[in-house]
Amino acid sequence: MKAVRIHEFGGPEVLRWEDVPDAKPRKDQVLVRVRACAMNHLDIWVRKGLPGVKLPHIPGSDVAGEIVEVGEYVTGFTPGQRVLLAPMHFCNHCAKCVAGLQNQCPEFTVRGFGVEGGNCELVAAPAVSVIPIPDNFDFNQAASVPLVFLTAWHMLVGRGGLRPGQTVLVLGASSGVGIAAIQVAKLFHARVITTAGSEAKLEKARALGADHGINHYQQKISDEVKTFTSKEGVDIVIEHVGEATWEQSMKCLKPAGTLVTCGATTGPNASFDLRFLYSRQLSLLGSYMGTMGELYEVLGHIFAGRLKAVVDKTFGLQDVRAAHEYMEKSQMFGKVVLNP
Ligand SMILES: [Zn+2]
Repeated sequence: MKAVRIHEFGGPEVLRWEDVPDAKPRKDQVLVRVRACAMNHLDIWVRKGLPGVKLPHIPGSDVAGEIVEVGEYVTGFTPGQRVLLAPMHFCNHCAKCVAGLQNQCPEFTVRGFGVEGGNCELVAAPAVSVIPIPDNFDFNQAASVPLVFLTAWHMLVGRGGLRPGQTVLVLGASSGVGIAAIQVAKLFHARVITTAGSEAKLEKARALGADHGINHYQQKISDEVKTFTSKEGVDIVIEHVGEATWEQSMKCLKPAGTLVTCGATTGPNASFDLRFLYSRQLSLLGSYMGTMGELYEVLGHIFAGRLKAVVDKTFGLQDVRAAHEYMEKSQMFGKVVLNP
């Protein structure tokens, strides 16, 4: 089969379009023909070099496609069935996994990071991670859902304990997690404040339901949040920007507010005054992907049309270098999807 592989870490030039042996399913696995593989920022981190990536490596976390072969021990699936793959890899038999807490499994990692991914024509996956999609559901849409919507759901609902009517600040409206978090927060009838680098992006965020937009190049986030909330602050901040926004994010919280972070795009070294943390009784929470139960929950809303993935642009899989370059320019609003 054809696959995108990296043999060394670096810029887009390390992405090679090459022939590799066909993926072969074990008896407990399902073989899926990849129709769409959505990109995430993780693809870029993996390409640049992350501890835990074994070379050569096939990137790509979010796969949708058709089943071509079903392992002997697998029941309930048939060749030709349209499916997506959960982007999580876990052992499925430890105490955490059987309790439904797959993202706390000692073996937990992400497809396309700790295990090989979907930037190829065929993927063999354990049956537990294969999820049917409706007949008329577009593969590009399906591939654009799992990682970012699961991440946003786990941050807001699983970790943040979002309740109806709360006020949420979502940083980075145009990112995959931002687009998902705005919609999940609105599903809970929260008031949503969001940030972006241009008026055009803020307009799209409002179309998704955001109540208030802040241009983070022209306005100070904490000042705008104070004005919009009558000096109160927000209940939950959805953070994934890191160093560049951390101080602002903490300032935006109301007393006993909660900051949930799933990333550090601008750098990992945030600092803050401990006195501010305890005197205002703030909660700082980390969040990493989510559970299979949460993925099924969020997909229920997706398939019912209450939440919607936004696809910005598609590329042929052989044009993966152009796709990485496009993504690194950060001009998109929504997902970049690769089609084998
Ligand atoms: Zn486990």
